[in-house]
Amino acid sequence: MAEGGGVSTVSENVPSYEHIDVNSTPFHIGTFRNLWLGMLHPETYSYSQTSPETEDLRFISDMGIAPETLAELKSVCSTDSLRSHPEHEPPDTEAVPPEPQLATLKLRKRRQDYKKSLIRDSMGRHDVYANEMELLAIGRRPEDSKDLIPEGELILSFNVVYPVLFERFKHVRAYQTLHVLGSQKLTELRDAICCVSDLQVFGEFSNTPDTAPQFLSKDHYKSAFFFFEGTFFNDLRFSECRDISKTTREWAKTHDFPDFKTARMEDTTFYDLKVKVGYPYLYCHQGDCEHVIILTDVRLMHRDDCLDRKFYPLLTHKHRVATRKCCVCHLYISRWITTNDALAPVDPCLYCDQCFRMFHYDDHGNKLGDFKAYVYIDPGAFN
Ligand SMILES: [Zn+2]
Ligand SMILES: [Zn+2]
Repeated sequence: MAEGGGVSTVSENVPSYEHIDVNSTPFHIGTFRNLWLGMLHPETYSYSQTSPETEDLRFISDMGIAPETLAELKSVCSTDSLRSHPEHEPPDTEAVPPEPQLATLKLRKRRQDYKKSLIRDSMGRHDVYANEMELLAIGRRPEDSKDLIPEGELILSFNVVYPVLFERFKHVRAYQTLHVLGSQKLTELRDAICCVSDLQVFGEFSNTPDTAPQFLSKDHYKSAFFFFEGTFFNDLRFSECRDISKTTREWAKTHDFPDFKTARMEDTTFYDLKVKVGYPYLYCHQGDCEHVIILTDVRLMHRDDCLDRKFYPLLTHKHRVATRKCCVCHLYISRWITTNDALAPVDPCLYCDQCFRMFHYDDHGNKLGDFKAYVYIDPGAFN
């Protein structure tokens, strides 16, 4: 199809490090998958589980060993052999019995109980819920069997980094992690990436605040591209889409860069791609909203994964950012930003929808004073 160059030599499509611990050499995802499927016994990636007894018997015959040797191996290699104590530790001899009679023991007991009361579960809310999204999807099976993902499918993990939104977020690498299937189109990943620039509303709405939602950027500016290994994959699904990589390619031509190729995002699946793991690539939309995207993992589907096709691309991590609250109520997330606003304490000033309307319009919806109002989309509204 678009990129990749089809089947080439085996070693070329088995990734190795290009830079140690940083990124791999480029490899063709589809070929890599076929190599895996060719090497592995179908049972290793099957969704049905082999019973431990069958596995034992197979191991005995594969290795040509006696059953006693297997039993010995199991005890030697058991995780129990890593313990310094037996699992059920003897009772703590230092601890005071629950109802002591001696005065000294009573004192000691009081001290011991006090110490125990100081121990708090120090795990933060953020740590507790860090993998909350991932846990939700684990082991999920589809209700309709036609949504079941076939065995041997690949899962690719992408980290999508947000552009720097504000100065104060400069040191924070906000990103979302998405799992996509190898057979999915690049456009499916594009549609799953949520970015505030898609929701921006262009224009000044102080006279007609109710019409603002009709001017969402994503409905008007549908062009976008991914850049992988010298090829721009353009989203050309709609008639109003343009090849926004053209400017870059023409500039590159006049500056002695090698020729960049183009392909259609909607005609390309991840199996068609030739990419590096750990290498920064580019996703660009809304003209100049640029995101670094990094492929962090390529693996075969496992029975414990979410097996329902409808949930992919699957969002497994979402960075939380602080929200900016309304300057009047300090309670709700801001929806409007005003300038030249005589009523505002600062310029520009943020308001929630309710405060904005109460403050700037009379009971009949007439504008009070001379100011400019723009829609504000808070990046934290996605939390
Ligand atoms: Zn963006
Ligand atoms: Zn408010």
